[in-house]
Amino acid sequence: MGGTLIGAEESRSNLYVSEGRVALWDAEAHPARESVDASGLLVLPGMVDTHVHLMDPGDASRETFPDGSAAAVANGVTTVIEHTHGHPVRSVADFHDKLDHLQGRARTDYGLAAHVWSDNLTDLSDLWTAGVAFFKIFTCATHGVPAVEGDDLRKALAEIAGIGGATLIHCEDDSLTAEAERRLRATGRTDPGVLIEWRSRSAEQTSVEAVLSLIRQTGVRATIAHVSTPDIAHLVAAARAEGVDVVAEACPQYLHLREDEVHAQGALRKFTPPARIRSDADEEAMWRLLGEGGFEHLSSDHAPSTLTQKSTGTIWEVHFGLPGLDTTLALMMEAVAAGRITWTRLVGLYSEAPARRYGLYPRKGHLGVGADADFVLVDPHRSWRIGDRPYLSRAGWSPYEGRQVRGWVHATYLRGVRAALEGVPVGDPRGVFVRPQP
Ligand SMILES: [Zn+2]
Repeated sequence: MGGTLIGAEESRSNLYVSEGRVALWDAEAHPARESVDASGLLVLPGMVDTHVHLMDPGDASRETFPDGSAAAVANGVTTVIEHTHGHPVRSVADFHDKLDHLQGRARTDYGLAAHVWSDNLTDLSDLWTAGVAFFKIFTCATHGVPAVEGDDLRKALAEIAGIGGATLIHCEDDSLTAEAERRLRATGRTDPGVLIEWRSRSAEQTSVEAVLSLIRQTGVRATIAHVSTPDIAHLVAAARAEGVDVVAEACPQYLHLREDEVHAQGALRKFTPPARIRSDADEEAMWRLLGEGGFEHLSSDHAPSTLTQKSTGTIWEVHFGLPGLDTTLALMMEAVAAGRITWTRLVGLYSEAPARRYGLYPRKGHLGVGADADFVLVDPHRSWRIGDRPYLSRAGWSPYEGRQVRGWVHATYLRGVRAALEGVPVGDPRGVFVRPQP
């Protein structure tokens, strides 16, 4: 009652929920069986994080669905689209096994993505019919997933286009990263600085240019994953302006973390593409693009490892990836407080646009009448320090530890039922699979 809605336009009103869905918005008060006082708070639609890795089934020492989805819901995310490289969904049987396994394990609603291997192209049509949200493709061998490139990539994109599917493509040129790795290893280097040279800007840009050409030729609906620089965002935007159905995905690590941090932080900054920001001007350029539509949507790319895992083995051996579900909305709310983006843009980037891109809208991604009543009550003025609130991801740490942020998730509701309060999940996991609607 009496919260300020952030959506297409900001307005102060009362939200009425019936059977898990938004039934009515009205400035006038009506009788209700149960009511929640949201005066002084903002009401945001639940965030939709479409790029997360919860390793379940997979490596439970890194993450699980119960823990990862707890981190999500306590921090304002009510829907995730998940895929795990170490235990990929490559066939309809894998997909159904995973759906069975996840029963009762999720605190958010969830969709699932499948992986493309060069030899499972004949499975893609059945996977799409079964209800996967998108197909993940790597153009470089990473995380144990083989590269799909050249003619194999063209065939894969043509197949996905033909079945009306969507794809999320991790773009780094395999020959450039492989050659850099050979050269760096031959010199015996094990300092963290190898990451910058191994996963170079050139490798990312070369791959994006080739991939954009194939997206244009095949007409597939595609997202370029975790775009790391303004130059690459501009390449994607230029293709989009020509009518190509491609968008750029933004992630917090390319908006906040600096390239040179890798020298001091080592494996705690091992993710790929690596952080690219070198100056305040670079950082401003990324935020300007985010505010102005140069990026279609935002994801965490939550890919956690524990501090112990990050400190065991050489820089070549430790896992790639960062935890993100505990912190992504907090960082974005701070960006609103700092005047970098608006509340409306935040909700567009991290709720509506991803829901639309992957067929979850109008059920998810907004709070119009008929939508699932997934919402977040936020105190926009409360200031806190990242790390004050216990991390719920198994990672148990954050690259943003110690940052002061404004904007506090007071409570999160999933389909009308409170799922988290003051950073703590409430009740049993009741997340369900959500099937994309093409
Ligand atoms: Zn990822």
